[in-house]
Amino acid sequence: MGYVFAPAPAVAVPVVGSDDRFPVRRIYCVGRNYEAHAREMGHDPDREPPFFFAKPADAVVYVAPGETGAFHYPSLSKNVHYEMELVAAIGKGGKDIAAEHALDHVYGYALGLDMTRRDLQAESKKLGRPWDTAKGFDGSAPLGPIHPASEVGHISEGAIWLTVNDEEKQRSDVSQLIWSIPETIAYLSTLFELQPGDLIFTGTPEGVGAIANGDVMKGGVAGIGEFSVRVV
Ligand code: MN
Repeated sequence: MGYVFAPAPAVAVPVVGSDDRFPVRRIYCVGRNYEAHAREMGHDPDREPPFFFAKPADAVVYVAPGETGAFHYPSLSKNVHYEMELVAAIGKGGKDIAAEHALDHVYGYALGLDMTRRDLQAESKKLGRPWDTAKGFDGSAPLGPIHPASEVGHISEGAIWLTVNDEEKQRSDVSQLIWSIPETIAYLSTLFELQPGDLIFTGTPEGVGAIANGDVMKGGVAGIGEFSVRVV
């Protein structure tokens, strides 16, 4: 039996050093996972359990290394923020994964931007409403290629940074994550059964801020390079 219309094409991004692509299933994001960012958002940096939100897989916009990708400024918003993040790409599924085995489930790592309509998010917070329109809008997840852990190793430390028009806005170190990547995977896998193709945006450091049309965001994480995205 066919389909009543053509199914949407699979969302997939290139894998560095391979002709194969990484098919994206779900995008999970961790909120407030760097202390100084929790503080700048007006929260007590005490270690509360991690919390998660999601973006649809087709929010991914692939950004090729050496090229400048495009982020389309969403209508209806006047305050849209960058959030530079390290992304863990799941290659082996599981539930109730123990933290000490969690890295066995990671296929690789990528650069990601958790683009956020801060104005809509602030309103959602105030009204106790969900964050979907603030976080899961079209094109809200610029993503670089996947670097296999077999090539680059597992990332637990190293610089994470972002500039806008060559001015530094965010700089921290992956070691500053409140919930490490193994701990995040362990916790998330108690809420959802993880599957190959899942991406986890691990949280942004301090220094988030607004972008405007024409701005060029450049972000990087030590060990997996950098990427550039222009606001259009
Ligand atoms: Mn984020």
